[in-house]
Order: sequence, then C-alpha cells, then structure tokens
Amino acid sequence: MSPQILGFFSVLHAIAGATDQPDVDAPVAIGERWPVIRRGERAQISRLTRRLIRERDDNRCRFCGRRGGLLELDHIVPWSAGGADVSSNLRSLCHGCNSGRSNYRTEFDQFVVPVTHACDVCVATWELNYGPSLHSRRFPDAQKVTAYCGNCHEVRFVTDPRRLR
Ligand SMILES: [Zn+2]
Ligand SMILES: [Zn+2]
Repeated sequence: MSPQILGFFSVLHAIAGATDQPDVDAPVAIGERWPVIRRGERAQISRLTRRLIRERDDNRCRFCGRRGGLLELDHIVPWSAGGADVSSNLRSLCHGCNSGRSNYRTEFDQFVVPVTHACDVCVATWELNYGPSLHSRRFPDAQKVTAYCGNCHEVRFVTDPRRLR
C-alpha cells in the first residue's frame, strides 16, 4: 500500500472518533482486500453480545440468508484493518460465506444497527417498577442511537452509550 493511502487511513481513523475505526467506505474498492494494519490476539466478544447479534440477525447468515446452524461473527470492517469489536461492525455469517469473504471488501459492507441489552423504554419501565437503576444516568445532550434491544426485541432509542454493545 502506498504512503498516501496509509496517510488517508490514519485521517479516517481520526475522523471515525467515537468508534475509533476506519469508515466502512474507506477507499478500498469492492473486491479488494482491506489493508492489514494490526495482527495478534484480540479480546473475546462477550456471550451476551454474541447472542444479541444473532437475535438481531434473525439467526440467519446475512449474506446467503441461510437460517440456523453454526453462524460466525464477521467484522464488517475487518478487525485486522482496524475495525472495532462493536455490534454495529459485527454481523452473522455462515462458515462458507465468512471464509469466502475473508478480508475482501464486498458490496454488502455497511455498518448495521447496533445491539443493546436495555433500550430507553426498557430502562424507563424498569425504573417505574423498581426505582432508579444503574442505567438511570441521563444524557440530555446525547445523540439518540437506535439499537436492537434484546430485552423487548424491538429496535428502539438508546441514549446512554454505555448500553450499546
Ligand atoms: Zn451464508
Ligand atoms: Zn427494550
């Protein structure tokens, strides 16, 4: 990869800010491999996050639509290219589709709706019944993000970024 491209990636990396990962529209052409910018061990993704992602994806491979069976977690922007371990960058793929995809940029690569264990509605309901919770902190200026909620199984607003997985 040329130095200019590397420079461009670090700029993108800086802009990506919140998630600290390159944008999915980084200048990697469809059919090309993402550049490898890191290697080695990465942290495990929690069982809860894995389960929520699988639920969000309706237990299907997001490429071929096959349901059930062994589904693998695929990083939309590959981890090796700086993609984050966050649910908006993770999707379910069957083994065949995941191996075929490898670290190529595909035409289907767009960030997806993140997952949460408790959306704003679920937290409000909880508070009504049980009083203030760990999640009662308010973020009046926060940008609301919609996320798949594993508690009510709806896509709803989440204002507290700590509740996004
Ligand atoms: Zn598949
Ligand atoms: Zn909910």
